[in-house]
Amino acid sequence: MWALGSCGVCCLGIAVFTCGVVMQVGAWTYYYSEEDYEWDDARTYCQTFFTDLVAIQNKEEIEYLNRTLPYHGKYYWIGIRKLRGIWTWVGTKKALTKEAANWATGEPNNRKFNQDCVEIYIKRSSEAGKWNDEPCTKKKKKALCYKVSCQPLICGLHGDCVEVIQSYKCECHPGFEGDKCENAVQCPILEPRAAYMNCSHPFGDFRYNSTCTFWCSEGFERRGADELQCLADRQWSAETPTCTAITCPELRAPEHAELNCSHLHGNFAFGSICDFSCQPGFELMGSQSHECMATGNWTGDIPRCKAVTCPVLSAPDHGELHCSHIHGNFTFGSTCDFSCLPGFELMGPVSHECTAMGIWTGDTPQCKAISCSVLSAPEYGEVNCSHIHGNFTFGSTCAFSCQPGFVLMGPQSRECMAKRTWTGDIPRCKAVTCPVLSAPKHGELNCSHLHGNFTFGSICDFSCQSGFELIGPESCECTAMGTWSKSTPQCKAITCPVLGAPEHGELNCSHIHGNFTFGSTCDFSCLPGFELMGPVSHECTAMGTWTGDTPQCKAITCSLLTAPEHGELNCSHVYENFTFGSICDFSCQTGFELIGPQSRECMATGTWTGDTSQCQAISCPVLDAPSHGYLNCSHPHGNFTFNSTCSFSCKEGFIQMGAEMLRCSATGNWTRHPPVCEEDSAAFLKQVLVYTSTSALAAIGLVLSGTLIALLAKQLSDREEKKKLLNPTSDLGAPGIFTNAAYDSTL
Ligand code: CA
Repeated sequence: MWALGSCGVCCLGIAVFTCGVVMQVGAWTYYYSEEDYEWDDARTYCQTFFTDLVAIQNKEEIEYLNRTLPYHGKYYWIGIRKLRGIWTWVGTKKALTKEAANWATGEPNNRKFNQDCVEIYIKRSSEAGKWNDEPCTKKKKKALCYKVSCQPLICGLHGDCVEVIQSYKCECHPGFEGDKCENAVQCPILEPRAAYMNCSHPFGDFRYNSTCTFWCSEGFERRGADELQCLADRQWSAETPTCTAITCPELRAPEHAELNCSHLHGNFAFGSICDFSCQPGFELMGSQSHECMATGNWTGDIPRCKAVTCPVLSAPDHGELHCSHIHGNFTFGSTCDFSCLPGFELMGPVSHECTAMGIWTGDTPQCKAISCSVLSAPEYGEVNCSHIHGNFTFGSTCAFSCQPGFVLMGPQSRECMAKRTWTGDIPRCKAVTCPVLSAPKHGELNCSHLHGNFTFGSICDFSCQSGFELIGPESCECTAMGTWSKSTPQCKAITCPVLGAPEHGELNCSHIHGNFTFGSTCDFSCLPGFELMGPVSHECTAMGTWTGDTPQCKAITCSLLTAPEHGELNCSHVYENFTFGSICDFSCQTGFELIGPQSRECMATGTWTGDTSQCQAISCPVLDAPSHGYLNCSHPHGNFTFNSTCSFSCKEGFIQMGAEMLRCSATGNWTRHPPVCEEDSAAFLKQVLVYTSTSALAAIGLVLSGTLIALLAKQLSDREEKKKLLNPTSDLGAPGIFTNAAYDSTL
């Protein structure tokens, strides 16, 4: 090891030359031989005249040698050789370190065998100062030697001399320094704090081997060694001791307390003063301030913080109290929760807390009964409530009832429960139900329902269809009892007057709703021989009257019978003239005989039995004119019938012999026998007489009207009566009976 530091930065190892003296002080100097030698000879040369082949220590030394030595074509041997395969500094027999090696490029190449020795290129054109391995026997190089410079005691009592390049160096004993190791090394000057110190300095103040002892004042204790020695490395054998205040047990704030300390000499140490205070809500029990004494103890006992007390709470009426006490019963931090029994609710804060002020948050709550909704009476009903804790609150019970006519549907009673609800559903009053009414037969029902179909208060009006009349109440009402005020009426068909069969008739009725009631139809009919006068059918109307008037059965009328000519009619009428049942008997006058039925009866068909009866004049035998005479007949009833009169006349010259005139009598016989004409002269006069009387009548009849004719005829008749008296055999009969025809024919 080379000691280089003493020359300073500018010199280092190489600077031994420049600093020193080079040849003058017998320092470590370099020499080279004039001759060339093999390596062994070169070393022998150096050891003979100097010290040894150079031991190259560093690059600066190499640079120095390269700069200083003259160029030599064969270069210079140096003190490095391979021993047992290791490059070794021969002077110190130490192996060449890799760091110290300075081989030229490609070296050592051991080009030839046994290139075990080393040369240094001095001033070579390239690789100057670098090393090359060469055979040790190569006899061509100069020996590069050095010579040591150390002398006895040159480094005094506290150092050893060490060779360096071209010089020496004093290597000082531990604890000393300087060129000649004349100075003890300086340790830092000790300036202990809060400690007392006593030192001995054999080589100067606070220098190598100085020893210092330390101690502390009361209340403090030493930390560190009691004695320090300055060592060769300029350091004290230990850290400078310190006096630290004696510590008291570290205080911690007790629960709920705070600690505020002032430390004069260190945490919780001698002289520290600690004040205790309590957190809000706590009060200090014990002394507030404490000091750490030299004994390591605190003055006084450690206080504690006790929770502030609040007034004791109790449960409200109908309620409960549940408290949690953190620090003690009813003390700061205690929380009390109020609750109410079922059915009650808390009025006020639920939770109370004991504050730091010793008072509770909030006022004491109360338990108030829970309110249910206000109940009202149901429609048509009443409610009657009893309240224990207040109107419509928990425990209140309400009873319901209904007005007459209504029944309670739902609970009779409800109670306010803790759930704020009432038991049961809302009751209601339902109208009492009456039996359902139906319209009477043939009637109608018209109801007004006040509270529901056919319930209390419903009023039903009854009415009947046309043709029916209500028998019973017109109206009824559903009573509170659930019954109808009146019985259901009936619709009875309206009655028409009872009909009877007409005389000679029959009545045939069909009854729909009852005898002779609305809708009844009655058909009238008549017995044979009678016909209905009036409507055949009657119907009982809704008015209670019959359609149409009551008919009658009237006997059937037959045609009016008259007496036949020359006859008489004698009728007997059962009912009316010439009606059914009438019987007419016919008879003829004298001289007539009845042709046809003697009696006819009016039948039911309206016709008469039989044919028409006639009175026919009774016939007399037909007369003939007498020979030589004339017959002149008048036939009032037919030829040669009753009352036909035939007069006879005889031709001129003949005299009538016998009855002048014959009349047909009622017996059918002529009154006389016909005359005969016999020749006679007196006949003429008689003929004129007859003529005069008859012609005069004829002339007047042509001029005058019928009445007059009748009058005349009467007169004439009277005259004839006179005449008849004169001739009692003559039966002239009725007036005007002479037929013109008879005369015409005779004329
Ligand atoms: Ca070589």
